[in-house]
Amino acid sequence: MPPDFRAMLRGASLRVTGPRLAVLDAVHEHAHADTDTVIQRVRADLPTVSHQAVYDVLRALTVAGLVRRIQPAGSVARYEARVGDNHHHVVCRDCGRIDDVDCAVGQPPCLTASDDHGFTVEEAEVIYWGRCPDCASPSRVSTDQP
Ligand SMILES: [Zn+2]
Ligand SMILES: [Zn+2]
Repeated sequence: MPPDFRAMLRGASLRVTGPRLAVLDAVHEHAHADTDTVIQRVRADLPTVSHQAVYDVLRALTVAGLVRRIQPAGSVARYEARVGDNHHHVVCRDCGRIDDVDCAVGQPPCLTASDDHGFTVEEAEVIYWGRCPDCASPSRVSTDQP
């Protein structure tokens, strides 16, 4: 059963609108979607929604905590519906694939700073960089190498 997006919006004190429902649906269906992907999926249902409207909805949902925004170095911003569990990401250096990695400890921050400089540390943002199985496979057909 899909999540009740209307209840989620109301719970975050946001008015229920067509674009907001469509963006939530797109982000739930497609983890780590970039803005262009979200726009495409929203427009499949609501062809007249503008880019700006989708940007605005993504920002409002992110601020409300219904959507999480991540932006690995060298990547465009990506959005996901899995919020509030302090999970991390593994990113492929070659193709940009992103997968979820559960928090190593279970609650933030799951890395203890060697010197916190007196800060109250709330979270550690961890990105594991490497190569995905497809890109690491030696049998991968490569067109850019002799
Ligand atoms: Zn890859
Ligand atoms: Zn994620």
